[in-house]
Amino acid sequence: MSFTGTFGNGSGLRYIHRKNLLQALADELPIDTIHFSCKIAAIETQTHDGSSPVIIHLGDGTLIKAKVLIGCDGVHSMVARWLGLSAPVKSGRSAGLGMAVFPEGHGLSHEVRQFIDVGLRAGYVPLNDKEIYWFLTCNSPPKGENLAGNPELLQKEVLDKYAKVLPPLLVDIIQKSDLSTLHWAPLMFRHPWNMLIGNLSKGNITVAGDAMHPMTPDLGQGGCSALEDAVVLGRHIGNSFIKNKRLVTTGDNNVGQAIDEYVKERKWRVTGLITGSYLSGWVQNGGSKWWMKFLRDVIFYRLFFGWILSIAKYDCGKLPSVSPAKPDKQSKLD
Ligand SMILES: Cc1cc2nc3c(=O)[nH]c(=O)nc-3n(C[C@H](O)[C@H](O)[C@H](O)COP(=O)(O)OP(=O)(O)OC[C@H]3O[C@@H](n4cnc5c(N)ncnc54)[C@H](O)[C@@H]3O)c2cc1C
Repeated sequence: MSFTGTFGNGSGLRYIHRKNLLQALADELPIDTIHFSCKIAAIETQTHDGSSPVIIHLGDGTLIKAKVLIGCDGVHSMVARWLGLSAPVKSGRSAGLGMAVFPEGHGLSHEVRQFIDVGLRAGYVPLNDKEIYWFLTCNSPPKGENLAGNPELLQKEVLDKYAKVLPPLLVDIIQKSDLSTLHWAPLMFRHPWNMLIGNLSKGNITVAGDAMHPMTPDLGQGGCSALEDAVVLGRHIGNSFIKNKRLVTTGDNNVGQAIDEYVKERKWRVTGLITGSYLSGWVQNGGSKWWMKFLRDVIFYRLFFGWILSIAKYDCGKLPSVSPAKPDKQSKLD
């Protein structure tokens, strides 16, 4: 099965190197605002003159006093734990992924190819003329945990186990993987009801991205919805900032209220994505029993697949527009 171009409604697949995305995001921030390679070790809240600054303790001993804390710390989020959200659960499936490099060029067209077999889904995406991203999801193998952090073993296991069912081209791509890019992880998600009844925020502390809504990758929406979070959160905090001309933690339009609005706006959308992703993966990775084939090939692909892909077309609104600050007057947000 191949996917290419747009789905007729303007939405479609866009591929981006994680490194380029992170670089583009980092380039928007003032220099020295990012602390690299240090984890949040603890979170402390204080009440001081009616406001509640957050004290973030980093693993290297640094303390950061902040007016707002937005935990974008991934599936095993420490901030989500602090909020009391339930831990993500394993879906019973795992994913392997990597990037193959063809120094002379791979010569393939820029379309996504996907292959499905019983309990297995794999595919590749040319990122540019020389690099191809590949992925494979399967029912979690018993040795799954050992594969994480062991790229040679991961490549060997994938080839030993699946080379006979995968097309030769995909086998060649996996063989040409840059070992430093290989990853293996169990696919996890947060129970959808925890999104509806759990605390997604507390005052001026919240979560975004996988920290809020870990989902299986079957709709390819985990990263996209993290970007949606950023726009929605940016809009609500931005409006609060514009109304008060600064970030305030008390009084009208304070940042805690902006965060409440963000949570309200995102809750149902991400609950739907978690559920849709899980069901999509369950059907597509399902077994070979006649009813599962019927469910997958007739019901899912013919009736629901187009609708599921259209979920990606979502208008999360715009950021408030303000005239840019002059560089010399630009202040750093704490
Ligand atoms: C196989 C697979 C395929 C996927 N395909 C797609 C796709 O096609 N499209 C799509 O949109 N999404 C896809 N996703 C999902 C996407 O990768 C994630 O949703 C996205 O990376 C989430 O971004 P994030 O910034 O929230 O979390 P992450 O990318 O996990 O980043 C979290 C960051 O927080 C850091 N961190 C962790 N703990 C701490 C701590 N205590 N203190 C400080 N920092 C911490 C980590 O080091 C990391 O840098 C896929 C996922 C998988 C597994």
